[in-house]
Amino acid sequence: MRKLFLSIFAVSLLAAGCGFSSGPKTQPITTLNPPTPTPAPELTPGTATSSAGAVLTPTSDSLPSGLSWPISDALSRVTKKPFGLYVSPGHSPVSPEKFTGYHTGTDFETTAAEKNIDVPIFAICSGKLLLKKWASGYGGVAVESCTIDNQPVTIIYGHLRESSISPAIGQAINTGDKIAVLGTGYSQETDGERKHLHLGIHKGSAINILGYVQNASNLSAWNDPLAVLK
Ligand SMILES: [Zn+2]
Repeated sequence: MRKLFLSIFAVSLLAAGCGFSSGPKTQPITTLNPPTPTPAPELTPGTATSSAGAVLTPTSDSLPSGLSWPISDALSRVTKKPFGLYVSPGHSPVSPEKFTGYHTGTDFETTAAEKNIDVPIFAICSGKLLLKKWASGYGGVAVESCTIDNQPVTIIYGHLRESSISPAIGQAINTGDKIAVLGTGYSQETDGERKHLHLGIHKGSAINILGYVQNASNLSAWNDPLAVLK
């Protein structure tokens, strides 16, 4: 799984050299490192089942301390747009595609069976709600401030049903708290997008809900959510 992501990332890096640079500003190209592998999470007491020899699998619920998955069966849902993927209307795993650029987050897909049911979204970390609103490209979006690995970050949860975002602005949120449900696909709730979660982790405390950046070097302002969560 990680190899696939790294491969995709490498392709993105190659694409970066092809001159897609319509961004408003260029900044000095710093060395762009592939997502930093996260040390394997340690099994904490209570995580493993009682059976001897419990094996951590990629779908294990085990996570770094203090973090939660944003959606059930999270890993199995990352099938279309991983972090760093370059898309354009003519080249994308989804159709139609209205965006162009490098994906700043990870998309978690829904199944056909979930089309008409509420799909809950959970806080991936403890923090507080900074923002909730309707935004172009997202529909409902929520932003949470957290500290992960002693670094301030903001978490972007996109394509939510705005009216379902339950925490108040400024309200404390605990990791794993249900904060909203996904918006209905292809409706105003998702600004016309399919029913899925866009999860972004932006470095620092400033709010930036950009879902795509025009230069690969700008991805360095974001963390790969799966590298953080796995
Ligand atoms: Zn996305």
